[in-house]
Amino acid sequence: AIPLVVAISTSISVRKGLLIRNRTAFEEARKITAMVFDKTGTLTEGTFGVTRVQVLAAGLDEAALLGTAAALEQQSQHPIAQGIAAEAKKRGLPLPAIQDFKSLTGKGVTATVNGKAVVVASPGYLKEQHITPPPAAVSNGAETVVFVLIDGKLAGYIALADRIRPDSQDAVQRLQQQGIKVYMATGDNQQVADAVAKTLGLDGVYAEVLPDQKVKIIKDLQAQGQFVAMTGDGVNDAPALAQANVGIAVGSGTDIAAETADIILVNSRPTDITNLVEFGKATYAKMR
Ligand code: ADP
Ligand code: MG
Repeated sequence: AIPLVVAISTSISVRKGLLIRNRTAFEEARKITAMVFDKTGTLTEGTFGVTRVQVLAAGLDEAALLGTAAALEQQSQHPIAQGIAAEAKKRGLPLPAIQDFKSLTGKGVTATVNGKAVVVASPGYLKEQHITPPPAAVSNGAETVVFVLIDGKLAGYIALADRIRPDSQDAVQRLQQQGIKVYMATGDNQQVADAVAKTLGLDGVYAEVLPDQKVKIIKDLQAQGQFVAMTGDGVNDAPALAQANVGIAVGSGTDIAAETADIILVNSRPTDITNLVEFGKATYAKMR
């Protein structure tokens, strides 16, 4: 049987924008000592607008570069992908046919276009391929940059901008007031990550991390004796959500994140989880 006070609290929390999938998660929210947030789509809105398109290869123009990238990104659920596809649509660009689409989770996407291998991916992927980006493609923190590679050669890049969610700062500050350390783990580059971390006053930041590295971050915090919550929206966050003591999915995120999580933020508002932590502690105090 569920204690009455918990049953009541659970139904209240549903009204506060939370869907509790695992009942024990409600009682465990008050035990959280470390919160790890994903960035894109979690602390930020995850709605990207294209700010720059730069061609770096001969025989290619902006429309061809963007159209090719969009042909791949049409198949991806990632917020960056949606931003690129929307820009191509806005410009009325024709999209070439693609074959063998594959998602490189946490890095980008790949497919064959006109017999050529095309990759649209992160600065981290570029580094893996031992390709140095031109200085103008290095983010100043305000933009997220993805690179287009054709047959392994850098063909250009696309810069996009996202916005921090209006209530992220409040959520972070109030969690810190509860004695919780607040971290961010993102696949995005260091400059963007540092800019967001500074704005929000985070306790720590992990940038350019792949999905299995997000899991390791959670495990390391747990090994230090922390009771860890992870909040994320993406396919890349699902393994870390499963590893965390409390897994929290953003409502506007992917199905796989929601299926893996203990709690879903129905309205995608980070403060709803802060409310739950504060409420959980108050409810526990009442039960004692
Ligand atoms: P976050 O952890 O902040 O949500 P992700 O792990 O989802 O970020 O993505 C990490 C990085 O991988 C992105 O910043 C981007 O550079 C690249 N990336 C991921 N998916 C795509 C995609 N569909 N198209 C292009 N780049 C992508
Ligand atoms: Mg994300």
